[in-house]
Formats: sequence, C-alpha cells, structure tokens
Amino acid sequence: MVNEIGRPAGPVTASSAGELLRAPLFHTPRNPFQEDHALEGFADGGLLIREGRIAACGEYGTLRDAHPDARSVDLRGGFLLPGFVDTHIHFPQLRVLGSLGRSLLDWLEHCALPEEARLADQACACGVARRFVHALASHGTTTALVFGAHFSPATAALFEAAQTAGLRIWSGLVLSDRMLRPELHQTPERAYRESNALIERFHRTGRLAYAVTPRFALSTSEAMLEVCQTLLGEHEGLLLQTHLNESTREIAEVARAFPWASDYLAVYERFGLCRSNAIFAHDVHPAESELQRLATARAAVAHCPSSNAALGSGLFPLRRHLRAGVRCALGTDVGAGTGFGMLKEALQAYLLQRIAPDGMLLDAAHLLYLATLAGAEALGVSDETGDFRIGKSTDLVYLRPLPGSPLAAALERQETPEGILGAIFTLAGAAEICEVRVAGSVVYRTESGEEA
Ligand SMILES: [Zn+2]
Repeated sequence: MVNEIGRPAGPVTASSAGELLRAPLFHTPRNPFQEDHALEGFADGGLLIREGRIAACGEYGTLRDAHPDARSVDLRGGFLLPGFVDTHIHFPQLRVLGSLGRSLLDWLEHCALPEEARLADQACACGVARRFVHALASHGTTTALVFGAHFSPATAALFEAAQTAGLRIWSGLVLSDRMLRPELHQTPERAYRESNALIERFHRTGRLAYAVTPRFALSTSEAMLEVCQTLLGEHEGLLLQTHLNESTREIAEVARAFPWASDYLAVYERFGLCRSNAIFAHDVHPAESELQRLATARAAVAHCPSSNAALGSGLFPLRRHLRAGVRCALGTDVGAGTGFGMLKEALQAYLLQRIAPDGMLLDAAHLLYLATLAGAEALGVSDETGDFRIGKSTDLVYLRPLPGSPLAAALERQETPEGILGAIFTLAGAAEICEVRVAGSVVYRTESGEEA
C-alpha cells in the first residue's frame, strides 16, 4: 500500500479536470501566534480537487474561469474548513465519557481503568473501535493521535477500524507494568514483542502509523521506559505519546517514584523520550525549566482544556508555553474530556484562557489553527494536511447550519471571516457536519448530505 500519512505534498498532475467545490471557506496556512493575517477566507470560495489533492484554493469565479473543465459542485449555504486534527484521545474510554465529579487518579481508578480492562474481550474491543472511529469522522476529525488499548488485539482492532474508515490515525499499544490493575500490566519483554508485531503490521500502512505509548511515568518502570527508547531507535517515523504534568497529586507521586529525577520531564528525558517526535498531553503545571527543555527538544504539547476543567486539573499556561517556544496543539482527551468535537474543544480553550491567570485572548484564527494546522505540525504531517495549501491532501469538513438553528440566526448577522468563525466555533457541533473527506474521498456524510 502507498504510505500517505507522512508523504510530502507532491506536484499535482493534471490528468483529470477535477472537482471544484463552491462554498465560503476558511483555513490558516500560517501560525497566527507568530504571524499576522494567518487566517485566509473566501466568502465565495472555490476548492479545486484533483486526484485527492488540492489543486487550487481561492475565489470561486477566478477558479471557474481558470479551470472551465472542472466539475462544479455548489455547496453554498454551508462552509468548508480543513479536517480537524485531534492530538490526544483514548480509544478505550469512549464509554466512560461523562463520568464527572472526580480528579485524575481517582477517575483513573474508578472510571477509566475498569473500562479499559473490559477491552480484553475482543468482541467488545471491536465494537468500541468501530464506534470510536465513526465518532471521530462524524465530528470532522480526519487525523488523530490515539491512545490504543493495553491489549494488542484490541489495539489492532482500532487500526483495522481506522483503515476501513479511511482516517489518518497514529496509535499504539499502551505500555504499563505497575500501579494500574494487574490485568493492564505487561512485562517489558512482552511490551517489546507485541509493540514490534503491531509496528510490523500497521506502521505506515495506508494512512496508519505507529506511536510508542507509555501510559505515564507513574505506571511505567525504568525497564519499560527503556523499551520505549529501544522501539524509537529501531524504527523510522514513529511518534512518542504520553502524559506530563497533568495534576499536582500525580506530579508529587512521580517525584516519589523517581527520586533521582529533578522534575517530571526528567523521567522521560533519562530515556531519550523528550524529542521532536514526542507529543506530551496536558502539561498543566510545568516548571520553567521543563518548558525550556521541551522547546529545545522541539517536543509538542497536546492541550486538552475540557479534560483539564472536568478533572479539575488546572488552567493551562498557554502564554508560558508559547513564550518559551513550545509547540502546542489541541486534544479532546476522550474520555476525561467532554466529547469528540474539536470545535467545542477550541471554544473551551478560548473560554479557559479568558479566565486563566495570564490567559491569552484567542481569536478565530487561533481557534482554527489550534484545531487544524497546529495538530498537523505537532504530528509532523503539516506538509500533508492541516490547511488548504496547493498540493496538500484534500482533508476537509463541510458544515451547514441547521435551518432555524441559533447558528443559522447568528450567521445572518456575521459578515467577516472572524465573525463567521466565531459563530461556528461557539454554536456548531456534529449535527452541522454534513460531509468529511480524507484525500478527497468521503469518510463521513450525513443522510441528508448533498452529493459532492
Ligand atoms: Zn489522556
């Protein structure tokens, strides 16, 4: 199979006239935290697709004149956005969404881990995998970095479901050998063997790729962290995903478990896991030195504002991360988070930054960037997805306000790209998402969705 997940954008061949989608469209081809005018929008937009790639993006009339043979598809009444990128989410936790009222370690023990243990049953795992992947697609998420299960067959079930659905998924067997429930533990030897088998089977297969996934420092021995280091050294193109500095109690316990470590990040650093292909979830309570080291290593942080609020973990210091030069993206953190919607997650980031000490005032460009290109950059696939620049894969979301809805009403009064996106981020959800494509192919379409 062709490897598509990390393939750099290549030249577009003109063997077919292509398909020209017509709708207002928005994307952030630049980072709005670093550059002005990062948001690009076209009120009467056109997106020319050829062989799954973006051949042109601009005003519809201009594109129509330049490409008269392309098949036009009128999608006015809705909006086109790049496919969303979720950089932190747990597949086995679909069915514990909504378990409110607990903090991290208590929630893990009573809600998440008992459910994760149920994925030892492969029929259960296959069912959860199918529903999980459908939920991603139906919420407009085209690319995701996913915590797999503690069981190899269940993790394989997720990869298979993602492959069938056509999404871009990075995932991996979750590695732990202490502190959790015994049935969730592997020996380091078994972790190495089973991870290798999964890498062999799924890494860079179609749109799939593998991420080495130690659950978090507390549940991994030094021998297990060494296994992670070995795997990363033995295979090209893997990612590393884990948790970092999520809650104060967790940080105190990590300090007790690793008395030689100067801070939480130092545990991962000892085993070479703080690196440019690493994505650390949360980092709500970093020391200044940890931020500097994350930035130096070019590691990325997955900010999960809904989860941070739901578990009472704390307010994410976004400004401190950006000031230090740490790359930040967004994650829903299902199931401690509140659902699959990246629009909602971006809104939650906006809301919490409004009340955080030293919080930042995020605008529509920041929210769109965080939900799309920032994630692609964190995962190292920004040459392939994240915005509508020419040559990229056509990964898109088409959303349309429901007639008579508050979103439809609010959009009547909005004329600027910022205003329209503000209304969409505030009011749109899965119900408004009509069609989702990856590499130009439809991966989700509502019953009532128009042919495209
Ligand atoms: Zn998590």
